Amino acid sequence: MEIYTGEISCSGIAIGRIAELSRHETLIRRTCAEDPAAETARYRAAKAESRTELEALKTKAAEETGKSGADLFKAHIMLLDEFDERVENLILTQNVSAEYAVSEAGSSMAAVFTAMDDNPYMQARASDIKDLADRVIRALNRGDNSGGEAIPAGAIFTEKIILAADDLAPSETVQIDKEGIAAFVTREGSTNSHTAILARTMNIPALCQTPLPKEAAGKLGIVDGTKGVLYVDPDEETLTKYREKMEGEEKKQQLLAELKGKETVTRSGRKVRLCANISGIDDIPSALESDAAGIGLFRSEFLYLENDTFPSEEEQFLAYRTAAEKMAGREVVIRTLDIGSDKQISGFGPDFGENPALGCRAIRFCLTYEDIFRTQLRALYRASHYGCIAILIPMIISKWEVARVKEICGEVKAELDAQGLPYQDVRTGIMIETPAAVLMADELAETADFFSIGTNDLTQYTLAADRRNQRISRFFDDHHPAVLKAIRMTVEAAHRHHIPVSICGDLATDTALTETFVRMGIDELSMSPSSILPMRKLIREME
Ligand code: PEP
Ligand code: MG
Repeated sequence: MEIYTGEISCSGIAIGRIAELSRHETLIRRTCAEDPAAETARYRAAKAESRTELEALKTKAAEETGKSGADLFKAHIMLLDEFDERVENLILTQNVSAEYAVSEAGSSMAAVFTAMDDNPYMQARASDIKDLADRVIRALNRGDNSGGEAIPAGAIFTEKIILAADDLAPSETVQIDKEGIAAFVTREGSTNSHTAILARTMNIPALCQTPLPKEAAGKLGIVDGTKGVLYVDPDEETLTKYREKMEGEEKKQQLLAELKGKETVTRSGRKVRLCANISGIDDIPSALESDAAGIGLFRSEFLYLENDTFPSEEEQFLAYRTAAEKMAGREVVIRTLDIGSDKQISGFGPDFGENPALGCRAIRFCLTYEDIFRTQLRALYRASHYGCIAILIPMIISKWEVARVKEICGEVKAELDAQGLPYQDVRTGIMIETPAAVLMADELAETADFFSIGTNDLTQYTLAADRRNQRISRFFDDHHPAVLKAIRMTVEAAHRHHIPVSICGDLATDTALTETFVRMGIDELSMSPSSILPMRKLIREME
């Protein structure tokens, strides 16, 4: 038995035969093009064909994995246009074939992203570019068969396999018959890559950065995505252990379903609300299915990120109203636009500077571009008439920001009154995710109806550790005493001022800390829908 360790892209356990993804590597020689105009026309036709394929993949991904999957291909379609200038210049100035020009353009564009070697997000973009270049080259070669799909769309596997590859492009991942895949294991890649995002959306265990030798193909493997371990050729004892684990996991899911409708309360009677984090209305069915007490965090920025233009008031109103109606009286906490840093709106001009995480993001963006903010607030207030909505303001550091938000809310309500449009008075909460907000928690509690602790950013800003940089992951320690102290200080300040406090960052699902949070007196934990029932079980077993 051989054992390899990797980074966890998606948790879970899987057993299957290892299959190596084989691609027909296209050898692209520098050949001379006799007619550059004809070569340019070939490139344009291949690009158009690639665009059509990507549009089809976008539709398929939207149907199968929802908005996040579709967004990947939308980004690919936009990146495709970036090839034009480079490719056409190479053909015209160097008289090379379209294949060679696309290959060269792809390599130079990918190299720019690869050079940003401390940024996993940029690394993932380099893979996207290579994937696009391969696609256009395949389209150019169609007919002479020198390219070819790595995995034919709709390929059906007779037994579940662990798919191994150096790296997997999102387009490959989405085209693979999901029913045939037990797990993904890649030697490269990052937990931030689009492939990792897709694996999580599909809920398929996945490891990246795993030094699996190619000779492992054909052997039996076990992926333990809870520990980041891959066993190749497992011995009988290990195999039996993991088979039992998988059976146990199924039974656990059945038992958890029995907790629906039950209270989340410790044995000594301490109640905790368990709510769902969602990115859009598509996530509401799973929130309801997991018996969430409400939506604790609706990350509204995803409504903005899916379009090239800002969503209109009507579009936003419809989304928020639908959420409120579907949750049928359960509270829906909608966080106002948390744009900036890694979440940029394409085509929106301003330069956010060198340190975007420390720059114009979240409430800073909204108070800088007030018209955009007012549109969102109008939509939120109008939707409040149709259910129970609360507003949550991200990245607060000062009292004046809350005061200004409230002034704008007052103006928006006056406008709605003047227009005769109905709304409810909504609760307004503050995200505590900066050290300044923790230190000012008593003062901020005087201005807020509730606190919600964003432990992802609170860890990033307290420890000065970039949350997206995997190279410093050991410094991004969300169990650091400073982070836990900041959470405790926030809970105590909230309760001194008689307002409830929730945790909506990733620490909410960290079972190693649940007892600590319950003892601190946390009122609510908000998390991914699938984590709610396991958390209810844990809390009900606590003293
Ligand atoms: C957080 O920072 O913990 C949080 C919940 O917000 P986001 O992860 O969206 O920044
Ligand atoms: Mg945050």
